[in-house]
Order: sequence, then C-alpha cells, then structure tokens
Amino acid sequence: MSENFSCYLVRKNDDGQVRAAVERIGLGDLPSGEVTIRVTYSSLNYKDALAATGHPGVVRSFPHVPGVDAAGVVELSDPSSDSDQFTPGDKVLITGCQLGAARWGGYAAYVRMPAESVVPLPDGLSLRESMIYGTAGFTAAQSVQAILDHEIDTSRGPVVVTGASGGVGCMAVALLAKLGYEVVAVSGKESAHDLLRELGAVEILPRDKVVDKSDGPLLGSRWSAAVDTVGGATLATLIRSTMHRGCVTACGLVGGHELPLTVYPFILRGVTLVGIDSEKCPMPERLAIWSRLAGEWKLDRLESMVSSTVNLTGLDKPIEAILAGRICGRTLVEPTVD
Ligand code: NDP
Repeated sequence: MSENFSCYLVRKNDDGQVRAAVERIGLGDLPSGEVTIRVTYSSLNYKDALAATGHPGVVRSFPHVPGVDAAGVVELSDPSSDSDQFTPGDKVLITGCQLGAARWGGYAAYVRMPAESVVPLPDGLSLRESMIYGTAGFTAAQSVQAILDHEIDTSRGPVVVTGASGGVGCMAVALLAKLGYEVVAVSGKESAHDLLRELGAVEILPRDKVVDKSDGPLLGSRWSAAVDTVGGATLATLIRSTMHRGCVTACGLVGGHELPLTVYPFILRGVTLVGIDSEKCPMPERLAIWSRLAGEWKLDRLESMVSSTVNLTGLDKPIEAILAGRICGRTLVEPTVD
C-alpha cells in the first residue's frame, strides 16, 4: 500500500477563489471510517462538477476531494468494528452516502468510509461496469423502480425522459427500453440522437416541445410516466401533461429549482410526484437496486454509454463540459496521473 498518493484536491484561498489541482496526500489525511478502499474507478456526475467549483450546496469545508462514486478493492478493514463483513481484497463500490460531499470522495487513489456505506460488488458486474452506472445509473434505476411501484405497465402509454443525453437521462432511457416501455427522450443535443436511438428511445424531442410556460393548470395528457432530471418549468410541464394516475419522478435541477404549478394535476388526475434521493437511500433498497442493475436489468450496451475515460490530470475539461450541459453519456475517472 502506498502511504502517499494522488488526489484531485479543491482548495479555497484567502481571497475566496476556488482552485482544483492534483496533489499528493497521505492515508492519514483521509477521514475516519472502518474500510479503506483502493479506488479503481470513479465517475463524473453533475454534482462532482459542482464540488470541483466549490459549490456551497455540495462542499461543506475546504480542502475537499470530489467524487460521489468509487469502486475498488478493500485494502484495510478495522477488525474491531462491524466491518468484519469486509476483508482485504474484497471488491466493493460506494455511491453517495456523503462520499465526495461531506466526506472526501473518489477522485483519489484511496477512500475511507464507514462500513455501513459500502456495497459488496454484486455478482455479474465488474468494477468498471459499476462505475459506468455510478450514481447516474443508480438514480435512474431508483426512478424506474418508482414507476414500477406505481404499477405503470408498458401498455399505459409513452414514458418521457428529460436531460436524456446526460448521465441519469441516458441510463433511464436504456433501463426503461430494456423493460419494454415506449420511451420518448427529450434532448437539447442533436449529436446525441444516434446514441439515444441505440439505447432504445422511439422518439426524440427538442427541449422546447416539453416546456409550456402558459399558466394553464392542466395540459393534454401525453405521458404515462416521466423521469425528470431538469426541474423548473420542464418538471411543471411534465406534471401538467401526465395521464390520469401517472407517475413523475424528480431528481434534478439543471434547468431550475422552482416548481411553478397548481394542485390540479394531483387532485383531478391523481398524478404522483416521487422525489428521488440517491445519496441517503437506505441500505436494503440500495442492495436490491444494485442486484437488479447487475442481474435482470443489466444493460447490454453499458460500454457504449462511456463518452471518455480520464485520469485525475484530465478532469478539468470534462468538469467544464458537464457544467455547460455538453457531455453526452458517462465519463469514467481513473485515480492515476499523467
Ligand atoms: P448531466 O450533466 O450528465 O446531464 C444533465 C442533462 O440535462 C444534460 O446533458 C442536458 O441533456 C440537460 N440539460 C442541461 N442543461 C439544461 C437546461 N438548462 N435545461 C434543460 N436541460 C438541460 O447530469 P446528471 O445526469 O449527472 O444529473 C442530472 C441532474 O440530476 C442534476 O441536477 C443532478 O444534480 C441531479 N442528480 C440528482 C440525484 C439525486 O439523488 N437526486 C442523483 C444524480 C443526479 P440534453 O442536452 O440531452 O437535454
């Protein structure tokens, strides 16, 4: 085990300027926790880009290591704790659970976490595949599970996915298509159309086709269900245009955090709005979702969703691109340097 290792460290200077750079730290710098993991892969999510720019909604203190995802091999496990379920050499993954937010994250050669946050790598998934999913795939799977829990079957009509070329969006398109739904993808990127069709979208709409800024409380019924990653007027429009007894999941805010809406979709159409929170998902539900992602829901085209694999030295550009809404699919991160 190497005592000193590289990480992508975000610092704030005395003038309040935030800068990220690759630096060397030691194992002793890591936060407390029972399980120390040698990271094989992390991934890039929108939240990681916010962390890299020091966004106060994500970063609690400086210096900070971003990376809400990590997959790797257990290096040390405190034998005196309830972490005896893990032994050195075990393959594991972590998504959320404060990683890369309140705790230092996966953009480092090592992470240390409480045992209660660590998921054994499920049979049927490699470490790389688990990080192609990452928080994006996990969140998409939670959204799909919510639609299933609301008994929206494939015969009820089309399911719409917004932010479809992004991490959560493309995973949601692929998972819903795999389960037999008629998936309509909403994307602002013409360059993503081929990928979205390959993933199973039957129709691709530009963003403005699902945003209605009129103040009509209800719109024509279009969707049996919706997976929204955008928020704001987009989410409000989806809720107003969902069919009777339909289900809308909300996980994101790339388009805004407000929700301009009346109660009519809920009391006249019985529409359900389900909030998706991947960060604090309880462990039994977490394990069940990972087991599905590795088993009956496993996507055949996982590799086709990887837009690039970068190391710590190469993180700046994809971080800038995801903040500008330019990334298509998933970016994998290896904790190495040039
Ligand atoms: P990505 O950046 O990968 O994807 C977001 C996509 O949204 C973009 O690719 C783009 O897709 C679309 N988009 C970007 N800007 C706008 C805009 N102004 N208006 C409309 N659409 C836009 O992000 P992620 O998939 O990682 O995350 C998506 C959202 O979900 C984020 O807000 C993130 O914080 C949230 N999230 C929440 C989680 C939770 O647990 N609640 C977990 C994971 C993510 P296109 O060009 O195809 O339209």
